Amino acid sequence: MSTQKPDLSPGQAESLPCSAPRCAWAKTELSIPYHDTEWGVPVHDDRLLFEFLILEGAQAGLSWETILKKRANYRRAFDNFDAQKIARYNARKVAQLLSNPGIVRNRLKIAATIQNAKAFLAVQKEFGSFDRYVWQFVGGQPKQNARTSLKQIPARAPESDAMSKDLLKRGFKFVGSTICYAFMQAVGLVNDHATNCFRYREVNGGGS
Ligand SMILES: [Zn+2]
Repeated sequence: MSTQKPDLSPGQAESLPCSAPRCAWAKTELSIPYHDTEWGVPVHDDRLLFEFLILEGAQAGLSWETILKKRANYRRAFDNFDAQKIARYNARKVAQLLSNPGIVRNRLKIAATIQNAKAFLAVQKEFGSFDRYVWQFVGGQPKQNARTSLKQIPARAPESDAMSKDLLKRGFKFVGSTICYAFMQAVGLVNDHATNCFRYREVNGGGS
């Protein structure tokens, strides 16, 4: 299917991910298009920011691949991440979600999603948008890192520590610093594409 050949010896692929055309973690049918079109692109749409916040929390303890597989089911099950609707979910809806094999059937995560919808609406009210609120943790501009290998990418950073602390204070759940950092990478608050990945410049505004 692919028209691109990685052109790497096996040894290189293992030890020198910086010689790959794209970030070394993107190597499956689902993760490659996700990497190539979404990961790291600055997001300013509140609905999509909320979707990523929930999906990153749902991922805790699982692989991102699992979440990508379930993503369409998540959108269907959770009213396309409409926080207004999710904030009003009742016990019957929770029971329905717990019996839905298309999502991660974890009672705590489902309860957290409803709680997070409420906290999200409160943030929107206070700041005008979640977008305005969340981008303040990087000063309003994507933080351009210069990673040359996967090993250089941390699991958390001072910015995600600050975001996590503030979200927790506001009643959000499943928003530890590691989850917040993954969120920041996904929605482009930080650019963690490897410098030689073809997307590094594109998400940096170089492509437009
Ligand atoms: Zn990349």
